[in-house]
Amino acid sequence: MDDQIKENLAINGGKPVRDTILQYGKQTINQSDKNAIQTVLEENKYLTTGPYVTKFEAEIAKYLNKKHAVAVNSGTAALHCAINSLKVPPGSEIIVTTMSFVATSNCVLYCNLTPIFCDIDPDTLNIDIDKVEKLISNKTVAIIAVDFAGQLCDYVKLRDICDKYNLYLIEDAAHSFGINGVGKYADLTTLSFHPVKNITTCEGGMIVTNNDLFDFRMRQLRTHGIAIDYKKREETGSHYYEMTELGFNYRIPDLLCALGSSQLKRLPQFIKKRNEIAEKYNKIFFSLKEISPLKQRFLSAYHIYVIKLNLDTLSTSRDNIFKALKAEGIGVNVHYMPIHMHPYYKKNIKDITLPVSEKIYQQIITLPLFPTMTDKDIDDVIKGVNKVIKFYSDSNPDILAEKDRFD
Ligand SMILES: *Cc1c(COP(=O)(O)O)cnc(C)c1O
Repeated sequence: MDDQIKENLAINGGKPVRDTILQYGKQTINQSDKNAIQTVLEENKYLTTGPYVTKFEAEIAKYLNKKHAVAVNSGTAALHCAINSLKVPPGSEIIVTTMSFVATSNCVLYCNLTPIFCDIDPDTLNIDIDKVEKLISNKTVAIIAVDFAGQLCDYVKLRDICDKYNLYLIEDAAHSFGINGVGKYADLTTLSFHPVKNITTCEGGMIVTNNDLFDFRMRQLRTHGIAIDYKKREETGSHYYEMTELGFNYRIPDLLCALGSSQLKRLPQFIKKRNEIAEKYNKIFFSLKEISPLKQRFLSAYHIYVIKLNLDTLSTSRDNIFKALKAEGIGVNVHYMPIHMHPYYKKNIKDITLPVSEKIYQQIITLPLFPTMTDKDIDDVIKGVNKVIKFYSDSNPDILAEKDRFD
């Protein structure tokens, strides 16, 4: 047994790998970002809805090669506007991957529609294409796929299914923005600019589409359902406006879009760095029998780095390994508890079982990954994981002896 295994875990009073917690995700802010914000303040003209919103929208539309981009104040607002813009009858069903942040399906409920949860592919944690078709009923109107951890879903197959059954395809690209292929196949693609996402506007989101009608509706929805925006009123010199839909205040400040434009310039750089770090992790972690990193079938932005614990080779639970890693200063997280398992969904929607996602939920841990990680940060994560995993491995003779004593 090497020395590292003998080393006492921090959770048992040993010396931690790090003195300070390394967070799992973090924004990258530089001087250009600060200058961008300051410029808007110094211009002192528009703080919300103004030219920087329009500019940011045009840049994102160009980046994703889409006709329209509508900026809103969160990724959740983006999903809400996207689903709302379909104008499907209340009670219609939308098939949603269960492995996502709750926002993905909460927005289905906001629109008085029913989410039908789909189980996941155990290798990628993306929606299981082979299970989608069985969930389609005569009430189904759309599928929402999430590019989990930043990896694209199998959109060729998803698009085929949608075309065959005449369904809309919505892509929640909160994790994948920045890689080639985002937005290519979906009718509506949503982005989030929360600080942990691939670029940030503090809070913010965007929807891209080629559909003129969806674009018109979403622009109306983000500002109370009022059809004429500030620009048209300024142009016509009229005070007159009409509210024709029940909308929301989902406007994003101009100030934040200036930050978004500045961040967008460095997105390719961020994605490259994320992939480099993931590659370093993959090299080490694919060789350990106790853990399995997610498999990569399509391009990934590596928004998060998720490992699955092979619990049959370990003497403890995910939660204990989670605590042990935290004690070492490795700021781990769990993405996600499957949405259908949340008490609200069990109680108010449907108490269902999706075996693959439920099993995997007990195995997953998200390790720190963000573009400004130093080589030492990366080494610390590798060290921490090795230390904790080796300690709890069923091939650790110390642990086996302990187990014998307690069995
Ligand atoms: C972050 C996230 C959202 C919500 O975005 P917000 O900007 O936080 O509202 C939706 N879906 C997924 C998959 C996300 O990761």
